[in-house]
Amino acid sequence: MDAAKDLKKFMSGLKKRNPGEKEFHQAVQEVANTLMPFIGDNKIYQDGQILERLTEPDRIIIFRVCWEDDKGQVRTNRGYRVQFNNSIGPYKGGLRFHPTVSLSVLKFLGFEQIFKNSLTTLPLGGAKGGANFNPKGKSDAEVMRFCQSFMTELTRHIGSDIDVPAGDIGVGAREIGFLYGQFKRLNNRLTGAITGKGPTYGGSLMRPEATGYGCIYMIREALDKIGDDLSGKKCLVSGSGNVAQHAAEKLLSLGAKVLTLSDSGGSIYDPDGIDEEKLAFIKELKNVKRGRISEYCEKYKKAEFLAGKRPWGVKGDLAFPCATQNEIGIEDAKTLVSNKCRAVCEGANMPTDNESIEYLQANKVIFIPGKAANAGGVAVSGLEMTQNSMRIQWTAKEVDEKLLGIMKNIHGQCVSHGEEGKYVNYVKGANIAAFKKIADTMLAYGII
Ligand code: GLU
Repeated sequence: MDAAKDLKKFMSGLKKRNPGEKEFHQAVQEVANTLMPFIGDNKIYQDGQILERLTEPDRIIIFRVCWEDDKGQVRTNRGYRVQFNNSIGPYKGGLRFHPTVSLSVLKFLGFEQIFKNSLTTLPLGGAKGGANFNPKGKSDAEVMRFCQSFMTELTRHIGSDIDVPAGDIGVGAREIGFLYGQFKRLNNRLTGAITGKGPTYGGSLMRPEATGYGCIYMIREALDKIGDDLSGKKCLVSGSGNVAQHAAEKLLSLGAKVLTLSDSGGSIYDPDGIDEEKLAFIKELKNVKRGRISEYCEKYKKAEFLAGKRPWGVKGDLAFPCATQNEIGIEDAKTLVSNKCRAVCEGANMPTDNESIEYLQANKVIFIPGKAANAGGVAVSGLEMTQNSMRIQWTAKEVDEKLLGIMKNIHGQCVSHGEEGKYVNYVKGANIAAFKKIADTMLAYGII
Protein backbone atom coordinates (compact mmCIF):
# COMPACT_ATOMS: atom_id res chain seq x y z
CA MET A 1 0.00 0.00 0.00
CA ASP A 2 1.18 3.54 -0.62
CA ALA A 3 1.57 6.20 2.04
CA ALA A 4 -1.51 8.19 0.93
CA LYS A 5 -3.75 5.13 1.22
CA ASP A 6 -2.24 4.18 4.59
CA LEU A 7 -2.84 7.71 5.84
CA LYS A 8 -6.50 7.68 4.81
CA LYS A 9 -7.11 4.29 6.37
CA PHE A 10 -5.33 5.27 9.58
CA MET A 11 -7.25 8.55 9.93
CA SER A 12 -10.62 7.00 9.23
CA GLY A 13 -9.95 4.39 11.95
CA LEU A 14 -8.86 7.08 14.38
CA LYS A 15 -11.98 9.16 13.71
CA LYS A 16 -14.20 6.11 14.20
CA ARG A 17 -12.54 5.31 17.54
CA ASN A 18 -12.70 8.94 18.73
CA PRO A 19 -15.96 10.33 17.36
CA GLY A 20 -16.54 14.07 17.40
CA GLU A 21 -13.09 14.95 18.80
CA LYS A 22 -12.20 17.42 16.08
CA GLU A 23 -9.22 19.08 17.76
CA PHE A 24 -7.71 15.67 18.47
CA HIS A 25 -8.29 14.57 14.85
CA GLN A 26 -6.61 17.77 13.65
CA ALA A 27 -3.51 17.31 15.81
CA VAL A 28 -3.11 13.66 14.78
CA GLN A 29 -3.69 14.50 11.10
CA GLU A 30 -0.87 17.06 11.17
CA VAL A 31 1.52 14.49 12.61
CA ALA A 32 0.33 11.60 10.44
CA ASN A 33 0.64 13.66 7.22
CA THR A 34 4.39 13.89 7.66
CA LEU A 35 4.99 10.61 9.51
CA MET A 36 3.19 8.17 7.24
CA PRO A 37 5.80 8.27 4.46
CA PHE A 38 8.57 7.94 7.07
CA ILE A 39 6.84 4.96 8.67
CA GLY A 40 6.32 3.46 5.21
CA ASP A 41 10.10 3.60 4.72
CA ASN A 42 10.83 2.13 8.15
CA LYS A 43 9.07 -1.20 8.43
CA ILE A 44 9.96 -1.73 12.10
CA TYR A 45 7.66 1.13 13.11
CA GLN A 46 4.89 -0.16 10.90
CA ASP A 47 5.21 -3.72 12.22
CA GLY A 48 5.27 -2.41 15.79
CA GLN A 49 2.04 -0.42 15.08
CA ILE A 50 3.71 2.51 16.83
CA LEU A 51 1.46 5.29 15.54
CA GLU A 52 -1.68 3.29 16.41
CA ARG A 53 -0.34 2.75 19.94
CA LEU A 54 0.86 6.34 20.28
CA THR A 55 -2.57 7.78 19.47
CA GLU A 56 -4.26 5.80 22.26
CA PRO A 57 -3.64 7.48 25.66
CA ASP A 58 -2.24 5.27 28.43
CA ARG A 59 -5.21 6.36 30.55
CA ILE A 60 -7.68 9.20 31.01
CA ILE A 61 -8.94 10.30 34.41
CA ILE A 62 -12.20 12.31 34.51
CA PHE A 63 -13.57 13.57 37.79
CA ARG A 64 -16.15 15.83 39.40
CA VAL A 65 -14.90 19.04 41.03
CA CYS A 66 -17.34 20.62 43.50
CA TRP A 67 -16.73 23.93 45.23
CA GLU A 68 -18.65 26.75 46.84
CA ASP A 69 -18.74 30.25 45.32
CA ASP A 70 -18.71 33.51 47.28
CA LYS A 71 -22.52 33.55 47.43
CA GLY A 72 -22.52 30.15 49.11
CA GLN A 73 -23.78 28.42 45.99
CA VAL A 74 -22.53 24.92 45.15
CA ARG A 75 -20.78 24.76 41.78
CA THR A 76 -19.79 21.68 39.79
CA ASN A 77 -17.06 21.43 37.13
CA ARG A 78 -15.41 18.58 35.28
CA GLY A 79 -11.71 17.85 35.84
CA TYR A 80 -9.43 15.79 33.59
CA ARG A 81 -5.95 14.35 33.35
CA VAL A 82 -4.96 12.67 30.09
CA GLN A 83 -1.84 10.58 30.75
CA PHE A 84 -0.85 10.00 27.17
CA ASN A 85 2.56 8.39 27.03
CA ASN A 86 5.35 7.87 29.58
CA SER A 87 7.87 5.96 27.47
CA ILE A 88 10.73 8.42 27.91
CA GLY A 89 9.90 10.00 31.28
CA PRO A 90 7.16 10.76 33.82
CA TYR A 91 3.97 12.19 32.33
CA LYS A 92 4.47 15.94 31.92
CA GLY A 93 2.23 18.73 30.70
CA GLY A 94 0.13 21.63 31.83
CA LEU A 95 -3.33 22.13 33.29
CA ARG A 96 -5.79 24.35 31.41
CA PHE A 97 -8.70 26.05 33.16
CA HIS A 98 -10.98 27.46 30.48
CA PRO A 99 -14.65 27.10 29.53
CA THR A 100 -13.65 25.54 26.17
CA VAL A 101 -11.82 22.65 27.85
CA SER A 102 -13.15 19.31 26.62
CA LEU A 103 -11.78 15.81 26.24
CA SER A 104 -10.96 16.53 22.59
CA VAL A 105 -8.98 19.67 23.44
CA LEU A 106 -7.00 17.92 26.18
CA LYS A 107 -6.30 14.90 23.97
CA PHE A 108 -4.94 17.14 21.24
CA LEU A 109 -2.77 18.98 23.76
CA GLY A 110 -1.60 15.76 25.43
CA PHE A 111 -0.76 14.20 22.07
CA GLU A 112 1.28 17.23 20.95
CA GLN A 113 2.98 17.28 24.33
CA ILE A 114 4.49 13.82 23.73
CA PHE A 115 6.30 15.14 20.67
CA LYS A 116 7.22 18.50 22.17
CA ASN A 117 8.67 16.91 25.27
CA SER A 118 10.66 14.44 23.20
CA LEU A 119 12.23 17.34 21.29
CA THR A 120 13.42 19.03 24.50
CA THR A 121 16.06 16.26 24.89
CA LEU A 122 14.89 15.83 28.51
CA PRO A 123 13.29 12.68 29.99
CA LEU A 124 9.66 13.83 29.88
CA GLY A 125 6.55 11.90 28.88
CA GLY A 126 3.39 13.57 27.57
CA ALA A 127 0.17 14.51 29.39
CA LYS A 128 -2.35 17.32 29.75
CA GLY A 129 -5.19 18.13 32.10
CA GLY A 130 -7.51 20.80 33.31
CA ALA A 131 -11.13 21.70 33.82
CA ASN A 132 -13.98 23.58 32.19
CA PHE A 133 -13.63 26.15 34.97
CA ASN A 134 -13.34 29.82 34.06
CA PRO A 135 -11.06 31.74 36.46
CA LYS A 136 -12.05 35.00 34.71
CA GLY A 137 -14.15 37.17 37.02
CA LYS A 138 -13.74 34.80 39.99
CA SER A 139 -12.40 36.09 43.30
CA ASP A 140 -9.07 34.83 44.65
CA ALA A 141 -10.99 32.93 47.33
CA GLU A 142 -13.16 31.19 44.71
CA VAL A 143 -10.11 30.25 42.63
CA MET A 144 -8.45 28.88 45.77
CA ARG A 145 -11.46 26.73 46.69
CA PHE A 146 -11.69 25.41 43.15
CA CYS A 147 -7.96 24.58 43.03
CA GLN A 148 -8.10 22.81 46.40
CA SER A 149 -11.06 20.70 45.33
CA PHE A 150 -9.42 19.90 41.97
CA MET A 151 -6.17 18.83 43.65
CA THR A 152 -7.97 16.69 46.23
CA GLU A 153 -8.71 14.24 43.41
CA LEU A 154 -5.72 14.90 41.15
CA THR A 155 -3.24 14.16 43.93
CA ARG A 156 -4.00 10.42 43.70
CA HIS A 157 -2.66 10.36 40.14
CA ILE A 158 0.46 12.56 40.22
CA GLY A 159 3.92 12.59 41.81
CA SER A 160 7.46 13.67 40.97
CA ASP A 161 8.26 10.32 39.29
CA ILE A 162 4.75 9.65 38.00
CA ASP A 163 3.10 12.70 36.51
CA VAL A 164 4.14 16.34 36.92
CA PRO A 165 1.51 18.94 35.94
CA ALA A 166 2.19 22.64 35.35
CA GLY A 167 0.35 25.71 34.10
CA ASP A 168 -1.33 26.49 30.78
CA ILE A 169 -4.16 28.87 29.82
CA GLY A 170 -5.96 30.00 33.00
CA VAL A 171 -3.37 28.41 35.28
CA GLY A 172 -0.66 30.87 36.27
CA ALA A 173 1.37 31.65 39.38
CA ARG A 174 -1.73 32.14 41.58
CA GLU A 175 -3.34 28.83 40.61
CA ILE A 176 -0.07 26.88 40.84
CA GLY A 177 0.41 28.24 44.37
CA PHE A 178 -3.04 27.06 45.46
CA LEU A 179 -2.66 23.67 43.72
CA TYR A 180 0.76 22.98 45.18
CA GLY A 181 -0.32 24.20 48.63
CA GLN A 182 -3.11 21.64 48.62
CA PHE A 183 -0.78 18.92 47.28
CA LYS A 184 1.63 19.64 50.15
CA ARG A 185 -1.20 19.59 52.70
CA LEU A 186 -2.56 16.25 51.45
CA ASN A 187 0.79 14.49 51.08
CA ASN A 188 2.89 16.19 53.74
CA ARG A 189 5.82 16.34 51.38
CA LEU A 190 7.52 18.80 49.04
CA THR A 191 8.76 16.67 46.19
CA GLY A 192 8.18 19.09 43.35
CA ALA A 193 5.27 17.20 41.78
CA ILE A 194 4.22 20.39 39.99
CA THR A 195 6.31 22.86 37.98
CA GLY A 196 5.89 26.59 37.50
CA LYS A 197 6.13 26.99 41.26
CA GLY A 198 7.14 30.29 42.86
CA PRO A 199 10.90 30.83 43.31
CA THR A 200 10.60 30.67 47.12
CA TYR A 201 9.16 27.15 47.12
CA GLY A 202 11.11 25.22 44.52
CA GLY A 203 10.26 27.06 41.32
CA SER A 204 12.89 27.62 38.65
CA LEU A 205 14.02 31.11 37.82
CA MET A 206 13.17 31.94 34.19
CA ARG A 207 10.19 29.54 34.08
CA PRO A 208 7.70 32.41 33.51
CA GLU A 209 9.86 33.79 30.68
CA ALA A 210 10.79 30.44 29.15
CA THR A 211 8.01 29.78 26.61
CA GLY A 212 8.07 33.29 25.12
CA TYR A 213 11.86 33.64 25.17
CA GLY A 214 12.28 30.15 23.72
CA CYS A 215 9.95 30.98 20.85
CA ILE A 216 12.08 33.99 19.93
CA TYR A 217 15.32 32.01 20.28
CA MET A 218 13.79 29.59 17.77
CA ILE A 219 12.89 32.22 15.16
CA ARG A 220 16.34 33.77 15.61
CA GLU A 221 17.90 30.40 14.70
CA ALA A 222 15.61 30.03 11.69
CA LEU A 223 16.42 33.54 10.45
CA ASP A 224 20.11 32.98 11.05
CA LYS A 225 19.95 29.90 8.85
CA ILE A 226 18.87 32.08 5.91
CA GLY A 227 21.38 34.84 6.75
CA ASP A 228 18.85 37.18 8.35
CA ASP A 229 18.14 38.53 11.85
CA LEU A 230 15.47 40.16 13.97
CA SER A 231 16.65 43.73 13.99
CA GLY A 232 14.00 46.14 12.71
CA LYS A 233 11.52 43.34 11.91
CA LYS A 234 7.84 44.28 12.30
CA CYS A 235 6.22 41.65 14.47
CA LEU A 236 2.59 40.65 14.94
CA VAL A 237 2.03 38.97 18.29
CA SER A 238 -1.36 37.63 19.37
CA GLY A 239 -2.41 37.00 22.95
CA SER A 240 -1.41 39.01 26.00
CA GLY A 241 -0.80 36.31 28.57
CA ASN A 242 2.44 34.86 29.80
CA VAL A 243 3.69 33.59 26.42
CA ALA A 244 2.82 36.72 24.43
CA GLN A 245 4.25 39.09 27.05
CA HIS A 246 7.61 37.35 27.15
CA ALA A 247 7.80 36.81 23.38
CA ALA A 248 7.25 40.57 23.00
CA GLU A 249 9.84 41.32 25.70
CA LYS A 250 12.51 39.21 23.99
CA LEU A 251 11.67 40.64 20.55
CA LEU A 252 12.19 44.16 21.92
CA SER A 253 15.51 43.27 23.49
CA LEU A 254 16.71 41.89 20.14
CA GLY A 255 15.79 45.06 18.24
CA ALA A 256 12.49 44.01 16.64
CA LYS A 257 9.32 46.12 16.63
CA VAL A 258 6.14 44.72 18.21
CA LEU A 259 3.01 46.12 16.54
CA THR A 260 0.20 44.10 18.06
CA LEU A 261 -1.12 42.10 21.01
CA SER A 262 -4.63 40.78 21.65
CA ASP A 263 -7.11 39.13 23.98
CA SER A 264 -10.50 37.51 23.45
CA GLY A 265 -12.07 40.98 22.99
CA GLY A 266 -9.85 42.00 20.06
CA SER A 267 -6.40 43.28 19.11
CA ILE A 268 -4.41 46.43 19.73
CA TYR A 269 -2.38 47.84 16.86
CA ASP A 270 0.22 50.42 17.83
CA PRO A 271 1.91 51.83 14.70
CA ASP A 272 4.67 53.34 16.88
CA GLY A 273 5.40 49.91 18.36
CA ILE A 274 4.77 48.55 21.85
CA ASP A 275 7.98 49.48 23.67
CA GLU A 276 9.26 48.35 27.10
CA GLU A 277 7.29 50.98 29.00
CA LYS A 278 4.04 50.14 27.20
CA LEU A 279 4.69 46.45 27.77
CA ALA A 280 5.07 47.11 31.50
CA PHE A 281 1.62 48.75 31.41
CA ILE A 282 0.18 45.63 29.73
CA LYS A 283 1.81 43.31 32.27
CA GLU A 284 0.28 45.28 35.14
CA LEU A 285 -3.09 45.41 33.33
CA LYS A 286 -3.19 41.67 32.63
CA ASN A 287 -1.32 40.10 35.55
CA VAL A 288 -2.39 42.33 38.43
CA LYS A 289 -5.59 44.17 37.46
CA ARG A 290 -6.81 41.31 35.24
CA GLY A 291 -8.26 43.93 32.85
CA ARG A 292 -9.01 44.00 29.08
CA ILE A 293 -6.43 44.79 26.39
CA SER A 294 -8.74 47.49 24.93
CA GLU A 295 -7.76 49.67 27.93
CA TYR A 296 -4.35 50.11 26.26
CA CYS A 297 -5.95 52.32 23.61
CA GLU A 298 -7.47 54.58 26.28
CA LYS A 299 -3.95 55.32 27.53
CA TYR A 300 -2.01 55.27 24.25
CA LYS A 301 -4.18 57.31 21.89
CA LYS A 302 -2.31 56.53 18.65
CA ALA A 303 -3.07 52.85 19.05
CA GLU A 304 -6.08 51.36 17.34
CA PHE A 305 -8.40 48.76 18.88
CA LEU A 306 -9.48 46.14 16.37
CA ALA A 307 -12.62 44.96 18.18
CA GLY A 308 -13.32 41.24 17.86
CA LYS A 309 -10.37 40.82 15.47
CA ARG A 310 -7.08 38.96 15.47
CA PRO A 311 -3.96 40.87 14.45
CA TRP A 312 -3.26 39.03 11.16
CA GLY A 313 -4.66 41.81 8.96
CA VAL A 314 -1.87 44.19 10.08
CA LYS A 315 1.17 44.32 7.79
CA GLY A 316 4.20 42.72 9.42
CA ASP A 317 7.32 40.66 8.66
CA LEU A 318 6.88 37.95 11.28
CA ALA A 319 3.82 36.50 13.01
CA PHE A 320 3.77 34.95 16.48
CA PRO A 321 0.43 33.39 17.37
CA CYS A 322 0.66 33.17 21.16
CA ALA A 323 -3.01 32.99 22.18
CA THR A 324 -4.76 29.67 21.59
CA GLN A 325 -5.65 26.89 19.12
CA ASN A 326 -6.98 27.65 15.64
CA GLU A 327 -6.40 31.38 15.65
CA ILE A 328 -4.97 31.36 12.10
CA GLY A 329 -7.46 30.11 9.51
CA ILE A 330 -7.08 29.98 5.75
CA GLU A 331 -8.24 33.59 5.17
CA ASP A 332 -5.69 34.80 7.72
CA ALA A 333 -2.98 32.71 6.04
CA LYS A 334 -3.84 34.24 2.66
CA THR A 335 -3.68 37.75 4.16
CA LEU A 336 -0.30 37.02 5.75
CA VAL A 337 1.09 35.76 2.44
CA SER A 338 -0.26 38.69 0.45
CA ASN A 339 1.22 41.06 3.06
CA LYS A 340 4.60 39.36 2.52
CA CYS A 341 4.90 37.94 6.02
CA ARG A 342 8.12 35.91 6.07
CA ALA A 343 7.55 33.54 8.99
CA VAL A 344 4.96 32.19 11.38
CA CYS A 345 6.42 30.92 14.65
CA GLU A 346 3.87 29.38 17.02
CA GLY A 347 4.03 30.38 20.69
CA ALA A 348 0.65 28.74 21.38
CA ASN A 349 -0.36 25.11 20.82
CA MET A 350 -1.84 24.42 17.35
CA PRO A 351 -2.81 28.05 16.64
CA THR A 352 -2.66 27.39 12.87
CA ASP A 353 -5.07 24.95 11.22
CA ASN A 354 -3.81 22.29 8.81
CA GLU A 355 -5.08 23.95 5.63
CA SER A 356 -3.29 27.16 6.60
CA ILE A 357 -0.04 25.33 7.41
CA GLU A 358 -0.06 23.80 3.93
CA TYR A 359 -0.84 27.15 2.33
CA LEU A 360 1.95 28.94 4.21
CA GLN A 361 4.44 26.20 3.36
CA ALA A 362 3.41 26.15 -0.31
CA ASN A 363 4.17 29.88 -0.35
CA LYS A 364 7.56 29.31 1.25
CA VAL A 365 6.70 31.11 4.48
CA ILE A 366 8.92 29.73 7.27
CA PHE A 367 6.47 27.86 9.48
CA ILE A 368 7.62 26.63 12.91
CA PRO A 369 5.04 24.51 14.75
CA GLY A 370 4.34 25.00 18.45
CA LYS A 371 5.73 21.62 19.41
CA ALA A 372 9.16 22.94 18.44
CA ALA A 373 8.77 26.70 18.90
CA ASN A 374 7.04 26.72 22.29
CA ALA A 375 8.95 23.81 23.84
CA GLY A 376 11.04 26.22 25.93
CA GLY A 377 8.34 26.34 28.60
CA VAL A 378 8.18 22.66 29.28
CA ALA A 379 11.96 22.43 28.86
CA VAL A 380 12.47 24.79 31.81
CA SER A 381 9.82 22.79 33.67
CA GLY A 382 12.12 19.81 33.10
CA LEU A 383 15.00 21.88 34.46
CA GLU A 384 12.84 22.76 37.47
CA MET A 385 12.40 19.03 38.11
CA THR A 386 16.16 18.56 37.95
CA GLN A 387 16.75 21.40 40.42
CA ASN A 388 14.12 19.95 42.79
CA SER A 389 15.79 16.53 42.70
CA MET A 390 19.20 18.10 43.32
CA ARG A 391 17.80 20.42 46.05
CA ILE A 392 19.42 23.45 44.45
CA GLN A 393 18.41 26.54 42.53
CA TRP A 394 20.29 27.63 39.43
CA THR A 395 20.70 31.34 38.66
CA ALA A 396 18.57 32.98 35.98
CA LYS A 397 21.66 33.19 33.77
CA GLU A 398 22.37 29.47 34.14
CA VAL A 399 18.78 28.54 33.27
CA ASP A 400 18.66 30.96 30.32
CA GLU A 401 21.87 29.49 28.88
CA LYS A 402 20.46 25.98 29.15
CA LEU A 403 17.18 27.13 27.55
CA LEU A 404 19.07 28.67 24.64
CA GLY A 405 21.07 25.47 24.20
CA ILE A 406 17.86 23.40 24.14
CA MET A 407 16.16 25.66 21.58
CA LYS A 408 19.25 25.51 19.34
CA ASN A 409 19.22 21.74 19.65
CA ILE A 410 15.52 21.57 18.71
CA HIS A 411 16.20 23.76 15.70
CA GLY A 412 19.02 21.44 14.69
CA GLN A 413 16.76 18.37 15.01
CA CYS A 414 14.11 20.04 12.80
CA VAL A 415 16.71 20.90 10.17
CA SER A 416 18.28 17.47 10.10
CA HIS A 417 14.94 15.72 9.52
CA GLY A 418 13.12 18.48 7.62
CA GLU A 419 15.53 20.07 5.16
CA GLU A 420 14.06 20.15 1.64
CA GLY A 421 16.61 21.92 -0.54
CA LYS A 422 16.86 25.50 0.67
CA TYR A 423 13.57 25.31 2.56
CA VAL A 424 13.20 23.70 5.96
CA ASN A 425 9.93 21.86 6.57
CA TYR A 426 9.89 22.35 10.35
CA VAL A 427 6.66 20.37 10.74
CA LYS A 428 8.17 17.29 9.15
CA GLY A 429 11.49 17.77 10.93
CA ALA A 430 9.89 18.16 14.37
CA ASN A 431 7.52 15.23 13.91
CA ILE A 432 10.12 12.77 12.66
CA ALA A 433 12.80 13.72 15.19
CA ALA A 434 10.34 13.51 18.11
CA PHE A 435 8.73 10.31 16.85
CA LYS A 436 11.96 8.40 16.30
CA LYS A 437 13.05 8.74 19.92
CA ILE A 438 9.69 7.62 21.32
CA ALA A 439 9.16 4.89 18.75
CA ASP A 440 12.60 3.35 19.36
CA THR A 441 11.90 3.37 23.09
CA MET A 442 8.48 1.76 22.65
CA LEU A 443 10.04 -0.96 20.51
CA ALA A 444 12.65 -1.59 23.21
CA TYR A 445 9.89 -2.19 25.77
CA GLY A 446 8.18 -4.83 23.65
CA ILE A 447 4.42 -5.06 23.34
CA ILE A 448 3.00 -3.16 26.33
N1 GLU B 1 1.51 24.19 29.18
C1 GLU B 1 2.85 24.31 28.68
C2 GLU B 1 2.96 23.62 27.34
O1 GLU B 1 2.01 23.65 26.57
C3 GLU B 1 3.90 23.90 29.69
C4 GLU B 1 3.80 22.51 30.20
C5 GLU B 1 4.76 22.20 31.34
O2 GLU B 1 5.54 23.05 31.72
O3 GLU B 1 4.68 21.07 31.82
O4 GLU B 1 3.97 23.09 26.96
